[in-house]
Amino acid sequence: MASYETEHARDEPRTGRARRPDLSSLYSLISEIQPSEERNREHAVPVPGDVSAAFRHLAEGYQSMQQDNDNVDADLLQSMISNLLSTAEHPPTEVKGVDEEYIANLERVPIKKMKQDADCPICGNEFREDPYPLLVRLPCHETHVFDLECIRPWLLLNGTCPLDRVDLAKKERERKEKRLAEIKKNQKEEDDDEEEWDGLYG
Ligand SMILES: [Zn+2]
Ligand SMILES: [Zn+2]
Repeated sequence: MASYETEHARDEPRTGRARRPDLSSLYSLISEIQPSEERNREHAVPVPGDVSAAFRHLAEGYQSMQQDNDNVDADLLQSMISNLLSTAEHPPTEVKGVDEEYIANLERVPIKKMKQDADCPICGNEFREDPYPLLVRLPCHETHVFDLECIRPWLLLNGTCPLDRVDLAKKERERKEKRLAEIKKNQKEEDDDEEEWDGLYG
């Protein structure tokens, strides 16, 4: 989503908070490895080296966040980093994350709705300290609210909520399959109805 990048192409002010790492090159890597009809290498299985690189890149991004900041929940971020590094060691043939459309449709939470001292579970920064807060709520739990910038790359690669490990990508795939099945079913019923039309109402 180009608009997101432009929306955030600002310098973060130096306030002693963890600076978010620049992940712009990660997003181009991700677009290479995600299943996509628009991708140049259509139908190609992603190169394992590319998959590894993307996971490692995000791990390094989170590591720099970790070094920068005392507010972070060390355990959560550490487990996310370990998870990314071990996936980089053994890259999957298919990345099981959500797509950008899913990210774009996540519920945005207005900063006014958050408690004064609420913070992002990933970077540990208080939302209100961010001059341009952009918060999203994951559908797994009403309290699972993150900085969009912190959760987006994780969801694209992993598709899970870091807090309760609900597999949102899997749920989304199931939802889409169910929807497709319903459309097909309705289509079939419509066809059947048309056939019955004469008999019933003729
Ligand atoms: Zn954050
Ligand atoms: Zn959750």
